[in-house]
Amino acid sequence: MPPIFQTTTFVQSSPGKHKGYEYTRSHNPTRTRLEENLASLEGAKYALAMSSGMSVTTLTLKSFEEGSTIVCGDDVYGGTYRLFTTVLNKSYNFIFVDTTDSKLVEQTLKEHKPALLWLETPTNPLLKITDIKKTSTIAKKYGTLVMVDNTFMSPIFQNPLSLGADFVMHSMTKYINGHSDVVGGCLMTNSKKWYDKIWYLQNAIGPSQSPFDSWLVLRGIKTLSIRMREHQRNALKVAKFLEDHKQVERVVYPGLKSHPHHKLAKKQMSGFGGMITFFLKGSLRDSKRFLSTVKIFALAESLGGVESLIEHPAIMTHASIPKKVREEIGISDNLIRLSVGIEHIDDLILDLEKAFKAVK
Ligand SMILES: *Cc1c(COP(=O)(O)O)cnc(C)c1O
Repeated sequence: MPPIFQTTTFVQSSPGKHKGYEYTRSHNPTRTRLEENLASLEGAKYALAMSSGMSVTTLTLKSFEEGSTIVCGDDVYGGTYRLFTTVLNKSYNFIFVDTTDSKLVEQTLKEHKPALLWLETPTNPLLKITDIKKTSTIAKKYGTLVMVDNTFMSPIFQNPLSLGADFVMHSMTKYINGHSDVVGGCLMTNSKKWYDKIWYLQNAIGPSQSPFDSWLVLRGIKTLSIRMREHQRNALKVAKFLEDHKQVERVVYPGLKSHPHHKLAKKQMSGFGGMITFFLKGSLRDSKRFLSTVKIFALAESLGGVESLIEHPAIMTHASIPKKVREEIGISDNLIRLSVGIEHIDDLILDLEKAFKAVK
């Protein structure tokens, strides 16, 4: 196992001449091991590991000139939306569009010639799928670079660089680490120029991943593929259970034939992941009762850990999106999001059955 270099500074052989490592904000051997591992998972030349997904987002944006236009999907992680609309909006112009509509994307890129197109696919929480290959081809025509937030699929089920994207990011907090004990983020790219720019900012601004957390993530990654397989196996069963349930209005899971982008999901991803969104028949009160009744599904934000989580996007993860915007994009008060873990499937179904009974 790689050692943890719990080290801030490294002895130099003579003034200004170091042996590969100087100071941990710049480089650290344990973090290097993680970055090499991450690059190989996404089939990328370069990777950077940072202290959170949000620091990756911030530094990537900061590597573009101030005043640039950024086009972003209209159904992204709540924290990304908050960062873009309340912090980085002072330096960049943001346009939010439904990126699953490639005609609309083309129109927008043609008109605004943005520096960057920010995609999240599947989206959060509505699990809409954007065609990465098609969209990247359009983006190239207008000189726009493409970033894909690949957190939901992990590198096991989707590799955006191979489909034409320029950057991939993950919140390693989720599937990559997978044990709900590290906050971290990573960026992968094949471009030396952009890697250098973003590394420069990481070193200058400082959100480099710590050696210990890098080590924990490396340990988590060892079971990533086996975990993803189990997440997906359970999720498909839970999704089918929900689809057949009388108290459910609608289930959204890319692995179901009823999903509007099921065909595209099958083509672009090698799995469907562990995230499910469903609309409960009932009111906000019913949703709250449902969420307070489940026990094995822990009521908590976040996703991608081995344990199952349940949450209410309108009140929890997506509360930073104004109610009006939430309603426009379909995040209603009866929408519930599940991160299906790797527990025994019978326990998960029984837990949900109890919650449905409590609502009835
Ligand atoms: C959690 C999450 C982020 C933010 O990552 P942090 O590690 O919490 O900073 C970004 N995108 C998606 C899709 C996420 O789920």
